[in-house]
Amino acid sequence: MKILALLHTQEDGSLPKAALEVLAAAAALKGQPGGSLAVGIIGQGAAGAADTVAGCGAERFLTVGAETVAQPRYATDTAAAAALIKESGAELVVAPGTARFARCLPGAAHRAGAQIDTHIISARAEGGNVQAQRWFYRQRILGSFSRAARPWVLLADTGLNAPWQGAAGAAGAKEIAVSFDDADLRTSVIGTRAPAAAAQTIKPDAALLFVAGAGWTKKQKDGQTHIAAAGALIQGFLHKANASLGSSKSLVDLQSEGQETLNFMTHMNQVGQTGSTPRHAKGLSTCCHGEEPHAVGWRFINERRAVNLDPNCGWAQGKADVVYVGDAFEVMSKLNALLS
Ligand SMILES: Cc1cc2nc3c(=O)[nH]c(=O)nc-3n(C[C@H](O)[C@H](O)[C@H](O)COP(=O)(O)OP(=O)(O)OC[C@H]3O[C@@H](n4cnc5c(N)ncnc54)[C@H](O)[C@@H]3O)c2cc1C
Repeated sequence: MKILALLHTQEDGSLPKAALEVLAAAAALKGQPGGSLAVGIIGQGAAGAADTVAGCGAERFLTVGAETVAQPRYATDTAAAAALIKESGAELVVAPGTARFARCLPGAAHRAGAQIDTHIISARAEGGNVQAQRWFYRQRILGSFSRAARPWVLLADTGLNAPWQGAAGAAGAKEIAVSFDDADLRTSVIGTRAPAAAAQTIKPDAALLFVAGAGWTKKQKDGQTHIAAAGALIQGFLHKANASLGSSKSLVDLQSEGQETLNFMTHMNQVGQTGSTPRHAKGLSTCCHGEEPHAVGWRFINERRAVNLDPNCGWAQGKADVVYVGDAFEVMSKLNALLS
């Protein structure tokens, strides 16, 4: 099987970690009898990037490093990716599911007459074909499947393979000329507007997921709510521990009901059956009672702890490895002091 590892560079011309992960998976797939590997790289400094992975065992290195693809742009990236798929003659294309490729590869696959599947978590050779795996229905059903269609593009989820490591060298990459038309160049990226890193509360790469429940907004033992103090404690902890923030549904729903709540929390933070199921090494849930956040939202958290005032909180007891029966306001302020 002819395999193409389709990668892109980042602004400084290096390959992102996600690209190296895919390269490792592609190099492993090449190990099947009759397997051959080409590496295709799009973006600024593509030829130099090819040299950094020269030792990956690929027979060919193809690049589109023209100035036109220095900036990620749907039209030019799509044309470049389609050209690389065609030039390589690949039957199987594996690519990292980065924002850049998630945007352009479905279009590129269409132009190259290929089928594409996204969110692939593994691909292994079996009986002359490839078995791919992905989750369906919000990570409740794990599906294994293969396709007869060729080329077949697999857009891989990140963080699942160890990044490729090996010798650099002279890859002798071949630059592929792509004919962009004027319409491809209509869009120009003039900059990026993003929240400051510290303001970003959803951090898929963080070691810890901190889950806040509606208890933070409830009347406390003095009969009052303490929402500003809750916000300061939670944000202080997220900052100090570089943790990602999850929320119960009740907490994020308060906002749409017009009640005073934590203003840095949105529905994007919700974990659970109707929220997300993020993957982190550890989880700490606070003031959270719900079944869905504990049973579903935490499914992929390896080590789970909870802080709850209620010793009979059944879901915290049933799903956490350790439950601290205590006041989360006190626990978190002590924790923040220790982290300081
Ligand atoms: C179809 C369906 C889908 C749903 N999907 C989701 C989902 O995806 N995600 C989700 O989260 N929910 C979901 N829910 C809602 C879910 O059932 C619960 O209602 C919700 O999770 C409860 O939120 P909570 O635990 O934050 O609030 P509460 O149930 O109000 O619990 C608050 C907790 O805070 C504790 N507490 C209060 N003060 C303190 C303190 N000072 N220190 C420590 N602990 C304190 C209390 O003891 C209590 O246990 C869904 C429900 C349905 C019907």
